Amino acid sequence: METSGEVSKLHFLLFPFMAHGHMIPTLDMAKLFATKGAKSTILTTPLNAKLFFEKPIRSFNQDNPRLEDITIQILNFPCTELGLPDGCENTDFIFSTPDLNIGDLNLKFSLAMKYFIEPLEQLLETMRPDCLVGNMFFPWATKVAEKFGVPRLVFHGTGYFSLCASHCIKLPKNVASSSEPFVIPDLPGDIVITKEQVIEKEEDSVVGRFMKEIRDSERDSFGVLVNSFYELEPAYSDYFKSFVAKRAWHIGPLSLGNRKFEEKAERGKKASIDEHECLKWLDSKKCDSVLYMAFGTMSSFNNEQLIEIAAGLDMSGHAFVWVVNKKSSKVEKEDWLPEGFEEKTKGKGLIIRGWAPQVLILEHQAIGGFLTHCGWNSLLEGVASGLPMVTWPVGAEQFYNEKLVTQVLKTGVSVGVKKIMQVVGDFISREKVERAVREVMVGEEKRKRAKDLAEMAKNAVKEGGSSDLELDRLMEELMLVKLQKEKV
Ligand code: UDP
Repeated sequence: METSGEVSKLHFLLFPFMAHGHMIPTLDMAKLFATKGAKSTILTTPLNAKLFFEKPIRSFNQDNPRLEDITIQILNFPCTELGLPDGCENTDFIFSTPDLNIGDLNLKFSLAMKYFIEPLEQLLETMRPDCLVGNMFFPWATKVAEKFGVPRLVFHGTGYFSLCASHCIKLPKNVASSSEPFVIPDLPGDIVITKEQVIEKEEDSVVGRFMKEIRDSERDSFGVLVNSFYELEPAYSDYFKSFVAKRAWHIGPLSLGNRKFEEKAERGKKASIDEHECLKWLDSKKCDSVLYMAFGTMSSFNNEQLIEIAAGLDMSGHAFVWVVNKKSSKVEKEDWLPEGFEEKTKGKGLIIRGWAPQVLILEHQAIGGFLTHCGWNSLLEGVASGLPMVTWPVGAEQFYNEKLVTQVLKTGVSVGVKKIMQVVGDFISREKVERAVREVMVGEEKRKRAKDLAEMAKNAVKEGGSSDLELDRLMEELMLVKLQKEKV
């Protein structure tokens, strides 16, 4: 049992899925718990500890010696024994092979997580934390935690809207084609989508069975932890708590917990650009005049699409920062830019090849719009920075997130992607890019709504704000469970 003086402190064990989109908010969460006087242990593999967690945790503990510590617990992950490439401890290291495409490899990687069942059992037996925050990709974690009397919280890494949409989606059999729009039944707001934008698969497919396992484990867990804030999606927060999961707590936007320059600059990875240079470049631009364009950590476009994006950006006439993260095991020749593009757009456009200090850039006053793949972390970071968005979903639950932006919040414009792909989306013409960018960069109403939402986001995480209170409530509940256990 963890004790500090008279008061017994809560101890969270956080187990993130090994992908940046999950590890980043998990680290933010551990820092948040520390500010509330709880101790956190992050469970991860050797490579992820070294590449991702060690440095920021050391800095955090040094900078905050009076807060409870964050520590790392390592579990080995024998990639090759599990049929994965050597050293493949993170989705970053997944590349297509002649036999398997990235989508299939990602699925294989997710299913390989079952390996952790036994090591986790052994750990819980000795560690006995007060709560296990286990990622959605570990559906077996609910039962493992139950065996040792540890409450298990599920962290999906997405918001209420997409969780509710996924719950409500019942693909209608009577639509004429998979591109015909239909209203998602029962979901508040008459949200329109098409069959080919939906990730859910038949229950008897591998993905379908895995998703059912996830839903069942959520139902049997202590509840769900959501990186969102009430004011962003009140109808869906209410719906989720009434009809989907027994209980849920929203504690976000988690990115707002990063206050120091270094925390924002090196969030995730070392940036591929000097942060100060990047900010200096932005300082030279007018307020709200620059579009930031990035597609997260998993999406990757072919050369043809990148050339089209470049042409569309150029035609829009707006200044831009464009993050190009080419996911490939080989160093490729740079033949993805139109001839002379960088010279032509010099001073107007900045291309970051690799990792961008995204939060730092989004918060800069020169940024006036965000073209995003609608990964939930990016989307919420855009919301917290008060930005109208161009939505370009690619996979996972990103089409649902797009509908939140375009149909509910009305702070964005869709670039017009028609169908979900596993990793690479369908082809978008330069004219579509130009149209959507122009519309978002000049749309005053959308900008005003986006700025209001950012204000709400900041208030939500302040002391007494909706997310702050929700975290207090969660910690009180967990403390009750802990005290009851200690009495026995
Ligand atoms: N990110 C970043 N720099 C990059 C690419 C990504 O800081 O160059 C961060 C981004 O701020 C976000 C996370 O990585 O916090 C990506 O998560 P998201 O859910 O947006 O997308 P995913 O990569 O999971 O599809």
